Amino acid sequence: MRGDASRRDVIIVGGGPAGSALAAFLRQRECDVLVLDAARFPRDKVCGEAVSPAAWPLLDAMGAAPEIEARRPHPLRGMRLTSPDGTSFQGSFPPQNRPGFALRRRDLDAVLLRRARTLGAEVRERTRVTGLLRRGDVVEGVEAEGPDGELHRWTARLVVGADGRQSVVASRLRLRRPHARLCRFAVRGYWEGMQGLGHHGEMHVGGGGYCGIAPLSPTLANVAFVLPRHEMAEAAGNVEGFFRRALRCRWPRLAERLDRACLVDRPRVIGPLAVEARALVAPGALLVGDAAGFYDPFTGEGITLALRTSQIAASVVGEALARVDVGEGLLAPLRAYEHARRAATRDKFRFNRLLQIVVGCPDAANFMARRLARRPDLADQLVGIAGDFVPAGMALGPRFLWDLLMA
Ligand SMILES: Cc1cc2nc3c(=O)[nH]c(=O)nc-3n(C[C@H](O)[C@H](O)[C@H](O)COP(=O)(O)OP(=O)(O)OC[C@H]3O[C@@H](n4cnc5c(N)ncnc54)[C@H](O)[C@@H]3O)c2cc1C
Repeated sequence: MRGDASRRDVIIVGGGPAGSALAAFLRQRECDVLVLDAARFPRDKVCGEAVSPAAWPLLDAMGAAPEIEARRPHPLRGMRLTSPDGTSFQGSFPPQNRPGFALRRRDLDAVLLRRARTLGAEVRERTRVTGLLRRGDVVEGVEAEGPDGELHRWTARLVVGADGRQSVVASRLRLRRPHARLCRFAVRGYWEGMQGLGHHGEMHVGGGGYCGIAPLSPTLANVAFVLPRHEMAEAAGNVEGFFRRALRCRWPRLAERLDRACLVDRPRVIGPLAVEARALVAPGALLVGDAAGFYDPFTGEGITLALRTSQIAASVVGEALARVDVGEGLLAPLRAYEHARRAATRDKFRFNRLLQIVVGCPDAANFMARRLARRPDLADQLVGIAGDFVPAGMALGPRFLWDLLMA
């Protein structure tokens, strides 16, 4: 058993966008941070890989924006949505803002983790956290397996679960549960040579679910579709065959654009996607990013949300650690994170739930699409809400609904 005797301020389990951002923001407050990630970076992550313009101020704040810009990610100027009957509408991001972008997660996440390291976080890759150390109810550290299978123990004043949808930290604390209703899976593949790619992300509703496209270059596309579990049986044993067949049969208009394209890498499947967390803080522990819950990728906001909520967490944790040492005493100040996160996401999550009702009902999706095609201003608003730079409350009020019905 290895480890080291010194107690850290914070151990962050997971070095994805949430963990890296939290580490960077905590380092800016001079906290002593250890980040543990099971993977070796750069690593892949199944994702639509479209990042909203709203991420830029957060990337600026953590000092990661210049390196991301240096990678020349494919600019995204808005979203184009297509309903089951083929009606399309397009919403654009405000032209005066920096555009959104699409970038492979293996590149984006490596930049973010490197930024945390540059700011002084200690980062250990290929180190899988397997359990929590506790004194009574209070989390005091983690147990982990290192690159050669060796066991480690580290202690800290606070352990943060930034370990994604399958969070070990949330599971060990019994805070994680599958979503009560949503049980969906995603399949993602890359196509080189796809026709008709531009500077808009695409979302095609229909085929029993929906299919998103993020152009990573003028010819390379991230194509990811989401289906309910009962539609996934055929994927067993042959994900690539299922991926090709599903695109052909469920989204034939897309399949035409893939006629001369070739699949790069093997498609990957993940799911069930939706998970809930019963609480976001516990004595000595806190959850950020997908570990704090994940609903559905339709609005493609997970990365921005992870960065934003990690910034909130860093400010609460930084202040709490300056005042209180550890344990139960730390719990009350950390509750401020739970409240601030809820306040920052409440309207958006309501909006997402409403959107899911529309997406699940082809007639409603067609109706909405026809109206929005006639009102580009409302389409811009909707895309702005999905992208997190227009307040979601705007679409929840009677005015928006009225405008939509009258369009
Ligand atoms: C199909 C799909 C499409 C999506 N499309 C988009 C999109 O277009 N745009 C967008 O913004 N968001 C999108 N999202 C959401 C986005 O991918 C997530 O919200 C985002 O990755 C959350 O970041 P995170 O850091 O919380 O978790 P993750 O990115 O999952 O990172 C978790 C990290 O923890 C590590 N880890 C896990 N377990 C352990 C362990 N036991 N010990 C140590 N390390 C561990 C993993 O190796 C990983 O590096 C999509 C999600 C899905 C499923």
